Amino acid sequence: MKEIFRKLGIEEINSGAYCGEWLDTSGEIIEVFSPIDDSLIAKVKSASVEDYEIVSKKAQEDFKIWKMIPAPKRGEIIRQIGLELRKYKDELGSLVTIEMGKIRTEGLGEVQEMIDMADFSVGLSRQLYGKTMMSERPNHRMYEQWHPLGVIGIISAFNFPVAVWAWNAFIAGVCGDTMIWKPSSSTPLTSIAITNIVHKVLEKNDVPKAIFNLIIGRGSTIGERLINDKAIPLISATGSCSMGKRVHQAAAKRYGQVILELGGNNGIIVMEDANLELTLKAVLFGAVGTAGQRCTTTRRILLHEKIFDMFADKLKKAYSSIPIGDPLEDGILMGPLVDYSAVKEYLNALEIIKKQGGEIIYGSKVLKENVLGKCYVEPTIVIAKNDMPIVQEETFAPILYLIKIKDIDEAIDFHNNVPQGLSSAIFTNNLQYSEQFLCHAGSDCGIANVNIGTSGAEIGGAFGGEKETGGGREAGSDAWKAYMRRQTNTINWGKEIPLAQGVKFDV
Ligand code: NAD
Repeated sequence: MKEIFRKLGIEEINSGAYCGEWLDTSGEIIEVFSPIDDSLIAKVKSASVEDYEIVSKKAQEDFKIWKMIPAPKRGEIIRQIGLELRKYKDELGSLVTIEMGKIRTEGLGEVQEMIDMADFSVGLSRQLYGKTMMSERPNHRMYEQWHPLGVIGIISAFNFPVAVWAWNAFIAGVCGDTMIWKPSSSTPLTSIAITNIVHKVLEKNDVPKAIFNLIIGRGSTIGERLINDKAIPLISATGSCSMGKRVHQAAAKRYGQVILELGGNNGIIVMEDANLELTLKAVLFGAVGTAGQRCTTTRRILLHEKIFDMFADKLKKAYSSIPIGDPLEDGILMGPLVDYSAVKEYLNALEIIKKQGGEIIYGSKVLKENVLGKCYVEPTIVIAKNDMPIVQEETFAPILYLIKIKDIDEAIDFHNNVPQGLSSAIFTNNLQYSEQFLCHAGSDCGIANVNIGTSGAEIGGAFGGEKETGGGREAGSDAWKAYMRRQTNTINWGKEIPLAQGVKFDV
C-alpha cells in the first residue's frame, strides 16, 4: 500500500483544498479508514470556509482565461489527462478498492470509465454543435451557439469516488468551464490522487491552473457553502435523495441550475419465458456487485408466479457460492460495506423488513469469521410485497426483494410504483413484453434495458433517472448541453427592420 500511496502522492496528512496549488488548509482533520480491515490509512486536513473562498475566487479568475482557449485545445488537455490515467490505472484501481471496499476488478473498471470519458470528451471538443434555423424575416439569419457556463460545482458520492467526477469534469472541461469538486468525506484520498495527476498535466501546458479544483470537507459545512455560492451557476450533485432535495432548494433560492443524480430502487421484471441462465448472471452482478452499493444496484425482482419458487431456489444456491472477503484478492466477488454505519443501516433495515412482513430466505448476518474487519455482511434475499414501506426506500446494502407478479401489466404497475426512477430491466424473449416495457406506458426510469441487468451502464448514453432520482443526465449523448449556456442569435443583413409575427411599428 505504501508504494501505491507514494506513486499517487498520498501523504500521511494531506491538504484538503487545491486551486492550481495545494493550500495549507485550516479545517478539521478527517481520518480515512479502509473498510477492508478498519485500519487508519491517512488523514486529510479539510478545507475551511476561508479556504473555500480562495478556491472559488481562483476558479472564477481562471474561468475567464480557460473559456477563451479553443474547445479542441481544451480537449487536448483532457486527452493528456486520459493518457496519465492509463499510466496510473493499476494504482488508482487499487486505491479505490482500499478506500471504499469495492473489488479490484470494479476499482479498475471505474478508472477505465474515466479513461473512456476522457476519450469521449476529446471527440466532443470538436462537436459542440449548435443549430441554424430558418428565419421568418427576409434577409435574416438565425442560429444558436453554446457558450461556456462558468464555475461548476461537482458533488460526488462515496460509491463511485472517481468515475462520477470524470463524467462531469471532462465534459465541463471541454465545454470551457472551470470547476470545484467536493468528494465524499469517506473517500477523499482518491480525489487527491486524481488531482495530483491532473496537476502534472496542467504544469506541462501553458493553461490556467485552477480548472479542476478540489475542496474536501463535510457536506454540512463546506458542501453547504458550495451550494449557496452565487458564483456557481450549476451544481451537479450525486448522492442520496435527501441530499439532492437540499441542493435543489439551496440552488433554487439563488436561481442556480442543478444536475441531480440521486438514489435508485431498480427493478428487474423476469417473465415466465425468460432465459434463466442469463437472468441469474445479471441479477447476481446487479444485486451483489459493489456489495449492493451502486445507485443502479438491483433491489427488486418482479418475478412471474410460474417460475417464482424455481428461480428463488436457483438464486439462493448462487448466493451461497459467492466468495466474500478481501476485495484486493483475485476471485473475491464481494467486499465489505463502506463503513460500520452502513452495516448498522443494513441490520436496521432487516429488522424493519421482518416487522413489515418480509420473509428472509437467505443471508442477514454480519460476517465475523474469515474476514479482516467488521464491515462484511451476507448478501440477503427477501420475499416481499412491493407496497411494504421499506421496499419503497433505497437501503444502500445488498438486500434483494423478490416480488411475485402474475402478468406483464401487473409487473409494470409494481415496477413503476416506487418514488425513484433510475434503472430498470426486463428479461424475456417475447417481443410484445419487451416493447410494452419500453413504450411510454412502460418503465418510467431514465434507463430501461432488455435482457441486460440494471447496473453497469456504458458512458456513451446519457446517464440519470426520473422522479426522486432527480432528473439529471450526465456522461454521453447530448448531456454536455447542461454544462453550457445556449444563445440564440439573429442577424439582419438587409436594409429594413421587419418585425416577427407581422407586427407593424412604423414611426
Ligand atoms: P450522500 O448523500 O450521503 O453524500 C453524497 C455527497 O453529498 C457527499 O459528497 C456529501 O458530503 C455531500 N453532501 C451531503 N450533504 C450536503 C449538503 N447539505 N450540501 C452539499 N453537499 C452535501 O450519499 P452517499 O452515501 O455518499 O452515496 C450513496 C447515495 O448516492 C445513494 O443514494 C446512491 O443511490 C446515490 N448515487 C446516485 C448516483 C446516480 O448517478 N444517480 C450515482 C452514485 C450514487
